[in-house]
Amino acid sequence: MRQPVSCGLRTRAIHGGIHARRNRGATTIPLYYSSSFAFESAEDLAAAFEGRHPGYVYSRISNPTVQAFEQRIAAVEGGVGSFAATSGMAAIQALCTVLAEAGSRVVFARSLFGGTVIYLREVAQRAGIHVDFVDMDDLPAVERALDHRPRMLFLEALGNPRLDIPPFEEVAELAASRDVPVVVDATLMSPALFPAKQCGAAVVMHSTTKLVTGNGTAIGGVVTDLGQFDWSVHRSPAIAREVGSVGPGYAFLAALRRAAGLSAGLTMSPFNAFLSALGLETLALRAETQSRSALELATYLAAHPGVSGVRYPGLEGDPYHERACRYFHGGGGPLLTFTLQDRPAAFATMNRLALALRATNLGDAKTLVIHPASTIFHDCSAEERDYSGVTEGLVRVSVGLENVEDIIGDFDQALADA
Ligand code: PLP
Repeated sequence: MRQPVSCGLRTRAIHGGIHARRNRGATTIPLYYSSSFAFESAEDLAAAFEGRHPGYVYSRISNPTVQAFEQRIAAVEGGVGSFAATSGMAAIQALCTVLAEAGSRVVFARSLFGGTVIYLREVAQRAGIHVDFVDMDDLPAVERALDHRPRMLFLEALGNPRLDIPPFEEVAELAASRDVPVVVDATLMSPALFPAKQCGAAVVMHSTTKLVTGNGTAIGGVVTDLGQFDWSVHRSPAIAREVGSVGPGYAFLAALRRAAGLSAGLTMSPFNAFLSALGLETLALRAETQSRSALELATYLAAHPGVSGVRYPGLEGDPYHERACRYFHGGGGPLLTFTLQDRPAAFATMNRLALALRATNLGDAKTLVIHPASTIFHDCSAEERDYSGVTEGLVRVSVGLENVEDIIGDFDQALADA
């Protein structure tokens, strides 16, 4: 690619990373659906295993389609490189595996996707990693947690489903002063709406299942090193080892590939990489449209007498509206929440929806609704639910690409009795 950083994001999402010339002129990333790759000689195969011969050996380690998707995402984010994982959760697992080990500490924002909370409790903490959960708006608490020299500070660009936005500059500055990499899960905003690099992140990750792929076809995750952190100061033994062999610039990615790909087998499948790369081409247009429609639906819901509260960061008057305007490009994303009286009212309204689907996932082309208390958060404690604003009457909506008047019409008829 001729234009990695100078072209706009939409151009990079379409042309970033691969040369059509290298792929017999194919205009779409070719799908290499092969688990292994053959070599002319035993010597070449041995050299490939040692990393001395270019080429692919086995798709758990690397695959041309997956690599093309990784290069494209890295170009979109303006990063050094990316690692594509089997899911968003696998991306989080990969991060914890490479950055921390038993006895070390990590800091996570208190406002998190329920699956991340459960992973930390049931896997990371059981493996001996100490997790400090900190409210990112409480900067003295962030500072105290950073004083324990954690291996990373992990936060969501927009909390799911709390819909809060952290003060990125302040948090990034505190973390930088203590050599702690800031890792942002920007799933709810996607690379199109959240400029992770400008917000001071060292690493950005996404569940590509959501906006990136955009049509609900492929589970996946991706981690990108934004090239803003000096890995030679990090205390992970896995990274220190790579600093010695590939240098600090690529040490994080090399360690990630080794621990999460080669060893743990968390590598994305070629087919999912193919679907995700197709989705990426239209991401920016979709994200813009979905943000516009979400704002219209939020405005409608806010005026509805049966709705007791609406949260959407794009909505004027929302507690995080000012930060949304400051940090997000082109809108507040597809996700909003609204509150009805109680669980029966929420279920009844959801059941009356004719167009919106009752389903988990977000950033899909289809409008989706879910009741977080009984689903994503059913395994979380009352305290975790309270903090995330998950009440019995809360309904989460991921606004799709349907005509906005049809989406609003659907909610209007469903709320008729509310
Ligand atoms: N991070 C966030 C913010 C999410 O919303 C999700 C899923 O909803 C994940 C991570 C996990 O992604 P996946 O479902 O692809 O494992």
